[in-house]
Amino acid sequence: MFTPSLGKLTSIKSDDFVIAVCRDRVAVDIKTENNAENKNPAFDIGNYNGKRVVALSLSQLNGGQHLREILAGESAELAHICSLASHLVWWRSVYKFCPTCKTVLKESETERSLICESCGQSFYPVIAPAIIVSVVKDKKILLAHNAKFPEGRYSLVAGFVEAAENLENAVRREVLEEVGIRIKNLRYLESENWSFPNSLMTAFTAEWESGEITPDGVEITSANWFSPAEPLPDLPPKGSVARRVIERFLD
Ligand SMILES: [Zn+2]
Repeated sequence: MFTPSLGKLTSIKSDDFVIAVCRDRVAVDIKTENNAENKNPAFDIGNYNGKRVVALSLSQLNGGQHLREILAGESAELAHICSLASHLVWWRSVYKFCPTCKTVLKESETERSLICESCGQSFYPVIAPAIIVSVVKDKKILLAHNAKFPEGRYSLVAGFVEAAENLENAVRREVLEEVGIRIKNLRYLESENWSFPNSLMTAFTAEWESGEITPDGVEITSANWFSPAEPLPDLPPKGSVARRVIERFLD
């Protein structure tokens, strides 16, 4: 069982459960004791089955796994621990100085936050909400090819929530912007932490209301309605919320 803690800077001890993090890659339960020598920051992020869990921030990592592989694995608890390690390592690497007055930030003694002792502001781990949606028309699902995807890969319409926008309006805007379609009967499905490096992905389903598929040509280069009865294109990897929502439709 995992119990999270405040994520404070620490030194690694020999019996710690160490998770090394380098951007999206992690190595679980590595053996390293001397953190002072290499000066890489390490954070006490909790307790796992009686062992202290330490997230070690590395600029290079030989071996390890992509965090996605761990999310797709058997243990939801390990996925949570590695996601937390990845998110906090990213947050602490970005938030070192107060964005307002440039004072070095200090760790709070009582909560997972950083404090500016000069201007009094507190800074919490930054979470970026995002949406993903399966749009359905005549028992077919809308799948789109993003310009950043590998060749042949199709997935759901997705995007980040903008300032002063709620989740529902973000879904409607993204679908209209990316593929030129209006939707109705929007329903929430599930949400998922997505620490790449700091997203919270919220998944929805909706029905087509009006419009012809018109890819925006920038983010989305191709999109179409796909029937479960026909061969499907290359889909997002297992373990992703996109894949689960697509499979939920196919079932
Ligand atoms: Zn400040």
